Amino acid sequence: MKRILITGGAGFIGSHLCERLLNEGNDIICLDNFFTGSKENIRHLIGNNRFELIRHDITKEFFAEVDQIYNLACPASPVHYQYNPIKTIKTSVVGIMNVLGLAKRCKAIILQASTSEVYGDPKVHPQTEDYWGNVNPIGIRSCYDEGKRCAETFMMDYHRQNKVDIRIVRIFNTYGPKMALDDGRVVSNFIVQALKNEDITVYGDGSQTRAFCYVSDLVEGLIRMMNNEEGFIGPVNLGNPVEYTILDFAKLIIELTNSNSKIIFKPLPQDDPIQRLPNIENAKSKLKWTPKVEIRDGLMKTIEYFDGILNKK
Ligand code: NAD
Ligand code: UDP
Repeated sequence: MKRILITGGAGFIGSHLCERLLNEGNDIICLDNFFTGSKENIRHLIGNNRFELIRHDITKEFFAEVDQIYNLACPASPVHYQYNPIKTIKTSVVGIMNVLGLAKRCKAIILQASTSEVYGDPKVHPQTEDYWGNVNPIGIRSCYDEGKRCAETFMMDYHRQNKVDIRIVRIFNTYGPKMALDDGRVVSNFIVQALKNEDITVYGDGSQTRAFCYVSDLVEGLIRMMNNEEGFIGPVNLGNPVEYTILDFAKLIIELTNSNSKIIFKPLPQDDPIQRLPNIENAKSKLKWTPKVEIRDGLMKTIEYFDGILNKK
């Protein structure tokens, strides 16, 4: 049994992680400012005496005694992280300073939820962890990309200078139940549009690619990385290495939902990466991790979830 702090614990990935680690018998502190997260995601855990929910913003200091920290706090959808870009970069940069300070004081292991966005619009394909990336430092995505890159720098410097025990995980597109209905990312947008028989909005010509990992696989990878006994600090890519064009992905969602929706094309947002696919050889060899959930199975569970929410409204 460990005392575990999960920042961003009421968000999509965070809420799955809270549930899994609580079920395994740990004491969980779930810290969230509810910007994109929701109490609904963790309502079923409230009342468990090993679960504590704290409304707090990681740009402010926080004190607790814990053994492990998963730092997930940060809006992840482009729509949400671009809503208040200054706050987004502060969450990554000021936030990681506070959380690393806490880790240092408690001698806790800290895992940072980094992102494939540190590779920007990558010129190396698939992306390996030794690739330094191709990031626009002054574009509309940089509040997120550069914030996450700076957070990785802080992690490495606290590790080298102060011997803080760190883990850096670069998460690739992850999907599943508990994504917010208005999240704005491609999986939730397409499923909700398809279920409502509304037009499916493909940005650009749909030839850009992504690879989609189901949330339970991702959570397993995060936990393996946190607890790996070789002291492997990463960075490590976690994602499902099956590449789809966004246009093919739209067609797949229409097929799985039996929808009458039509595909329409909208302008491609600025700096939208053209291709993205993880190389997961490090995760396979060092963590013995591979994703298990097939895309059709994962999508059906996600479709059921959104269908349930839409029917409640
Ligand atoms: P999410 O938006 O659902 O969750 C983020 C959570 O952090 C929310 O509950 C939000 O309220 C909280 N939060 C935001 N700013 C905060 C602050 N200043 N203080 C406290 N809490 C704050 O997103 P998610 O998909 O669950 O992503 C979780 C983490 O994983 C993020 O750090 C994200 O960058 C990273 N990530 C996710 C993906 C993905 O595909 N889901 C891909 C790469 C990286
Ligand atoms: N996208 C799209 N239609 C939508 C939402 C997203 O075509 O309604 C595209 C987006 O332009 C990008 C890809 O889908 O090329 C993935 O977008 P998402 O916002 O999910 O995350 P990203 O991987 O860009 O961070």
